[in-house]
Amino acid sequence: MSAEIIDGKAIAKELRATLKSEVEELVDDHGITPGLAVVLVGEDPASQVYVRNKHRACERAGIATRDIRMDEDATHQEVMDAVQELNNDPNIHGILVQLPLPDQIDEEEVLNAIDPAKDVDGFHPFNLGMLLSGQPTFVACTPKGVMHMIDEMGIDLTGKEAVIIGRSTIVGKPQALLLLYRHCTVTICHSRTQDLAEHCRNADVLVAAVGRPHMITGDMIKPGATVIDVGINRLEDGSLVGDVDFDSAVEVAGAITPVPGGVGPMTIAMLLRNTVDAARRAAGL
Ligand code: NDP
Repeated sequence: MSAEIIDGKAIAKELRATLKSEVEELVDDHGITPGLAVVLVGEDPASQVYVRNKHRACERAGIATRDIRMDEDATHQEVMDAVQELNNDPNIHGILVQLPLPDQIDEEEVLNAIDPAKDVDGFHPFNLGMLLSGQPTFVACTPKGVMHMIDEMGIDLTGKEAVIIGRSTIVGKPQALLLLYRHCTVTICHSRTQDLAEHCRNADVLVAAVGRPHMITGDMIKPGATVIDVGINRLEDGSLVGDVDFDSAVEVAGAITPVPGGVGPMTIAMLLRNTVDAARRAAGL
């Protein structure tokens, strides 16, 4: 039996339409246009594509964008100054620093300099702490997008075994907390995990966030499981694939996200969600 395909593109499109109406309401009723600033340092081609996609999605939703482009050899202080200026700008409600940053820039210090009230990526220690303490403010866009997809699919999480592969601060750890808050029994696997396949086979909900093409194969999946593939890997022939071997997994899983067209579009939609929420909060709404 073939799994149900979780159409991230369609779910994201629906969410973006809702956000567009929310933005129209903010503009018409309160005179507030949500604003997102993106800081891009250097010429990394993948980052440029991501930034372009984020801008386009914002524009379609009526969110104003500001692009801060800095040279590859920009100094740490110059980037810090740019962040500070955006922190002080009342027209900017969300600030996103596109990663990775060049080596001369202390990434952690830059991310920590973003005003937590404008931290639409949810990477600031304040927002991470709020998530840990169960009072989430801004939650990282990818794990938040995964939860939205699961909810849209009507998948019941209570009491389910959730296994997350990857323990990054951007995806794996916040994902684990979000699933825990929804009463899953959560296991986090990583590069030192012994017998990864055995853990995976126990999962009712399996989230792969590693960055290794095709590492999760159908024989590692529990029949009927929900499989969420966060990984984005570019193969030598230029094609994009996830961490899950889709062809074998689709035969076993109950529901599965494709790559592309799964988690990726949700991440961008959640960035818009967080920016609109930031604008609302800034206005005390
Ligand atoms: P990181 O490199 O920060 O984390 C990868 C994790 O995978 C680490 O915890 C690492 O373990 C673990 N890992 C590596 N090798 C193995 C292995 N053999 N077995 C088990 N675990 C392993 O990556 P990110 O979390 O930032 O991103 C993960 C993937 O998701 C990437 O492909 C990225 O491109 C993609 N991504 C996609 C997004 C989207 O919108 N769809 C958004 C963000 C990321 P350890 O900690 O022990 O090193």
